[in-house]
Amino acid sequence: MRYEVPETAERACQLLAAESGVARVLAGGTDLLVQMRTDVVDPVLVIDIKNIAELRKISVDASGCLIGAAVTGAELKESAALKAAWPGVVEAANLIGSTQVQGRATMGGNLCNGSPAADSVPALIAAGAKAVIVGPGGRRELAVEDVMTGVRKLALTKGEIVTAFVLPAKPKHSGDAYLRFIPRTEMDIAVVGCGVSLTLDAAGVCTAARLALGAVAERPLLVADAGKALVGSKVDAAALDKLAAAASAACRPIDDKRGTKEFRVKIAGVLARRTAQIALDRALGKAPEKTGNTH
Ligand SMILES: Cc1cc2nc3c(=O)[nH]c(=O)nc-3n(C[C@H](O)[C@H](O)[C@H](O)COP(=O)(O)OP(=O)(O)OC[C@H]3O[C@@H](n4cnc5c(N)ncnc54)[C@H](O)[C@@H]3O)c2cc1C
Repeated sequence: MRYEVPETAERACQLLAAESGVARVLAGGTDLLVQMRTDVVDPVLVIDIKNIAELRKISVDASGCLIGAAVTGAELKESAALKAAWPGVVEAANLIGSTQVQGRATMGGNLCNGSPAADSVPALIAAGAKAVIVGPGGRRELAVEDVMTGVRKLALTKGEIVTAFVLPAKPKHSGDAYLRFIPRTEMDIAVVGCGVSLTLDAAGVCTAARLALGAVAERPLLVADAGKALVGSKVDAAALDKLAAAASAACRPIDDKRGTKEFRVKIAGVLARRTAQIALDRALGKAPEKTGNTH
């Protein structure tokens, strides 16, 4: 196995594009190394992207936020500006694994591993984030909801890598949140994950809302009808009922040892309502009661 440590995204892409055998990008390695140890994948080329400076950057300014694809959950937590702008995104990334895992696991790896249950992905989708993709054809941006196309399937072409995520500037009177249901208190994979972001006008009427679900389909889903259910309302009980119904209706889950289809459909509605309530509290400047895991 060949191990390369390029210092630019362009060089990483050249190496990937030129390799005819199985090649893999290595970020934190918390998925890849497990897959290599268990013979799920046996690459002839591993390209470590952690020495590429642009992939390690976080920036927050009036135009929005940029999170490098190789930024770890632990590094995200250190950014007060990012936490103030998109607390739900930071919380979602910090639900991944343990303290040790968070010191390694990256946002790019979480998306590009292609798991429908990846925790940071619904939060990024709810925030309206775009993935910046660099490859032999140049640089492009793709909405995060369009990057994963199925289990372990991505809309990346040969030689492309994700270099960053761009998030819009936080609008006034807005809030976001992410909740997941897990059977244990921590260190578990989401049975359902839900991200919500919403914006209010000065009178408290919702002007925009996005809801995304994880672990209820072959890929994380943006549920447009759930967002629409809040727009024009004061995010009251009736609007939250509609949001919950739309979230449940969008699910097309599998049965597995962690939850039946029926359970996931029901929990999606419950989490949608609770997550939206936290996002609402944040938009109103109130501290939310509980964030993170539901069990
Ligand atoms: C003990 C443990 C607990 C975990 N708990 C959770 C959890 O609670 N929630 C959760 O969502 N996940 C969990 N995970 C999975 C994993 O930690 C996350 O998916 C993590 O974010 C992966 O990031 P990484 O940097 O380690 O990715 P890596 O393992 O380095 O890469 C993962 C995949 O993405 C590809 N890749 C990485 N970066 C890029 C890029 N920039 N461009 C293109 N391709 C890229 C790699 O080639 C590889 O195929 C857990 C894993 C472990 C070991």
